[in-house]
Amino acid sequence: MNKKLRVFATCDIGEAIELLRRRGYDVEVYPHPEPPAKSLIVEKVKSGIDGLITTLRDPIDAEVFEAGQGTLKVVAQYAVGFDNINRADANRYKIPFSNTADVLTEATAEFAFFMMGTLARKMWPAEHLTRELKWGYWHPYLPFLGDEVTGKTVAVIGTGRIGLAFIKKCVGFDMNVLCYDPAYENHEFVKTIQEINDLRHARGLTKEKAWIKYVPFEEALRGADFVSVHVPLLRAGESATPTYHLFNEKNLRLMKPTAYLVNTSRGPVIDEAALARALRENWIAGAALDVYEKEPLPVDSPLRDAAIADRCRLMPHFASAARITRLSTDPDKGMAGRCVQGLIDVLEGNYGGDITKMPYVVNKEAFAKPT
Ligand code: NAD
Repeated sequence: MNKKLRVFATCDIGEAIELLRRRGYDVEVYPHPEPPAKSLIVEKVKSGIDGLITTLRDPIDAEVFEAGQGTLKVVAQYAVGFDNINRADANRYKIPFSNTADVLTEATAEFAFFMMGTLARKMWPAEHLTRELKWGYWHPYLPFLGDEVTGKTVAVIGTGRIGLAFIKKCVGFDMNVLCYDPAYENHEFVKTIQEINDLRHARGLTKEKAWIKYVPFEEALRGADFVSVHVPLLRAGESATPTYHLFNEKNLRLMKPTAYLVNTSRGPVIDEAALARALRENWIAGAALDVYEKEPLPVDSPLRDAAIADRCRLMPHFASAARITRLSTDPDKGMAGRCVQGLIDVLEGNYGGDITKMPYVVNKEAFAKPT
């Protein structure tokens, strides 16, 4: 490279930054753990950087793209979700942005599965009994019981990468699966899972034959013991089937009073005020959340109500927070590796410089040649 390519990263993504430096890039990393102010991002972009590494905390819109006119060539997002990036603005300014799909799929899916088990088997309140010296005796049902996961019916809302990976975990627990996805039904996958269920039953591994099928949304909610949400955040106008407040009062009331809700997708998919009411008034049995309408969860959030603490698990947007998933520099294993590869592809003109062929670029539509 003749002139050093300049990159600003809004957070430290570990060894992958060194990988870029060893390739000759001039990389500046925002040195604090909290997100930089948007004004600083705009200032850095205005200073003429070629690439910007962002994550889900950074609002990236026309103001940022305008600041980078003529210089900014790529935004590499360290996350699979990209609801913080205004896609229409990126397209208008013809700036490609990439994400880190696939490499966090299994980590996020297993975390959702663990959250489901932790919630239903009341592991958090149970540990509190031990720690707070309230474990006085062994008793058949006191002070409380949990609910089994094995053999139950789970609704998977959104059968993209993470939803399907979540279903794979459910198979080992003999679960029946109600799938719902208005835009992508993977019938080949469903057929394969059914074949595995059939084999497990035929070979005597399960007493009941587990089943899996696509159903309409309301049927999924009505029939499920657990509901696990794996949709992107899509606001009105961004999709024919937006997901903003998909779980509102009306839809929460469709769930069984014994059912549990798990959300590792994005916070605004759930109307938190309605959910807090649902938990207080026992419309549903419990909820485990990793993501919130406002992050970090505000001190006055109704979800922090002590009256629902036994049935409301609150995780700090942690589902992809596993060592290899977050930090591996291998683009096939880690978000860090995939993030910098997305950036390198654009800045070094890989794939013959054809952005539509670059695997990690999201908004390929802005670069398609007119036919
Ligand atoms: P994906 O695009 O592969 O799958 C999302 C699926 O949701 C798609 O099949 C889509 O058709 C479907 N969908 C869209 N609108 C829907 C609706 N109204 N109802 C039901 N389904 C709908 O994405 P993915 O890789 O599986 O990731 C899903 C989301 O999970 C990401 O967008 C991100 O927001 C979130 N996520 C969170 C964490 C975390 O740390 N908690 C980690 C990774 C991903």
